[in-house]
Amino acid sequence: MFETVLIANRGEIAVRIIRACKELGVKTVAVYSKADRDSMHVRLADDAICIGNSPSSESYLHIPAIITAAEIANVEAIHPGYGFLAEDAHFAEICESCHIKFIGPNSESILRMGDKVQARQLAKKAGVPVVPGSEGIVKDKNEALKVVQEVGYPVIVKAVAGGGGRGMRIAHNDLAMVSAFATAQTEAEAAFGRPDVYIEKYLEHPRHVEVQILADTKGNVIHLGERDCTIQRRHQKLLEESPSPAISDDIQKKMCRMAVRLAQESKYVNAGTIEFLVDKDNNFYFIEMNTRVQVEHTVTEMVTGVDIIKEQLRVAFGEPLSVDQKSVRPRGAAIECRINAEDPDRGFVPQGGRVSLYVPPGGPNVRVDSHLYSGYVVPSFYDSLLAKVITFGRDRMEAINTMRRALDEMIIQGVPTTIPFHRRIVDDSRFLRGDYPMNLVEELFE
Ligand code: ADP
Repeated sequence: MFETVLIANRGEIAVRIIRACKELGVKTVAVYSKADRDSMHVRLADDAICIGNSPSSESYLHIPAIITAAEIANVEAIHPGYGFLAEDAHFAEICESCHIKFIGPNSESILRMGDKVQARQLAKKAGVPVVPGSEGIVKDKNEALKVVQEVGYPVIVKAVAGGGGRGMRIAHNDLAMVSAFATAQTEAEAAFGRPDVYIEKYLEHPRHVEVQILADTKGNVIHLGERDCTIQRRHQKLLEESPSPAISDDIQKKMCRMAVRLAQESKYVNAGTIEFLVDKDNNFYFIEMNTRVQVEHTVTEMVTGVDIIKEQLRVAFGEPLSVDQKSVRPRGAAIECRINAEDPDRGFVPQGGRVSLYVPPGGPNVRVDSHLYSGYVVPSFYDSLLAKVITFGRDRMEAINTMRRALDEMIIQGVPTTIPFHRRIVDDSRFLRGDYPMNLVEELFE
């Protein structure tokens, strides 16, 4: 196994990776910005190096500073976590050329799957259904209107290089289409430095169901079942669960098989997620692949018992996966609530500040992944995720009841949080039935 790994991230995911490394006997090096000097990941790592100023462009996104830190600390590998540089093919390539192992897929895979049009084409080739839409990049509004003639309204214009729910615009008629197209292009250029967009049929109130994939360098590709991430606000996930209460065993099996096939077809290595949308008639369509560990990997870990971060490290080191498909037997149900420093009653505006008191929930079947402690100051420079509360049950209702009591126990004082939001979701009758639409959050809160 690696002797020393640098974690090019912060917050809960940096803490999560440090924990996995410690259990594997791997030494850890944290990097941090000036705003994160007193952060939990800095305390927990064996070594820590300041890489720059508070804005992420001057620290967690600043490749020369991270590579310099890696060289000073003489690490063999870098784990990028999620966000920041995790899906930056250029960063993976620089790591490769500096002989530092990037713990993730190779730069070509990132490039290929990060281009959503290429990913769609690859999915089609692998026989995986994609949302009806344009063949490739749509160059101008006339071409866009032609695509609409084929697929019909409503449609969604999406950035080819998109991510994080940005650069997407919905249109219900020609007039809206023309402006949606222009806005999506402008947004895509600003957010991703690339204005290219494509078009998909907009599915009304679909379910978001995704499959966790693990692949090693020996040719083994397995899936760890699915996660349902339908509870979203503005295309951002807020609560996830596994298994999905919305799909039959039949559909689940088919979806997982297709996900494995796509990973095989693209010669993918390491952990990845294949995302699908499911319509009301139970048709499922590939939308994209995420070439990194996801925030919500925890629910999969709870039902399968497989430590996804450890598998990432093993695979990056050149070892085979520690599990095969037959030995993966998901059991029970798990739910994750993302606790963000946001005020759900004021349009979910993020707000930093000092956490005067933090008391995490505990007891049986509760897991908390967090970098919080009492007295911690939440910086306003980064995303607002404070903690993930994950509960397990032998069945879905047991997991929900445990979540209710965990949310009741949890205390975070000093900053607003999404705890009240989650309390309402886990009491909502549609959520309890497992039959909830994608716009549930809007219905309850806007
Ligand atoms: P990103 O990479 O920005 O996360 P995705 O392609 O994964 O973008 O889509 C994110 C979310 O946007 C989905 O979970 C879903 O809520 C919504 N979405 C994307 N494509 C469609 C579509 N064709 N129809 C309906 N909703 C969509």
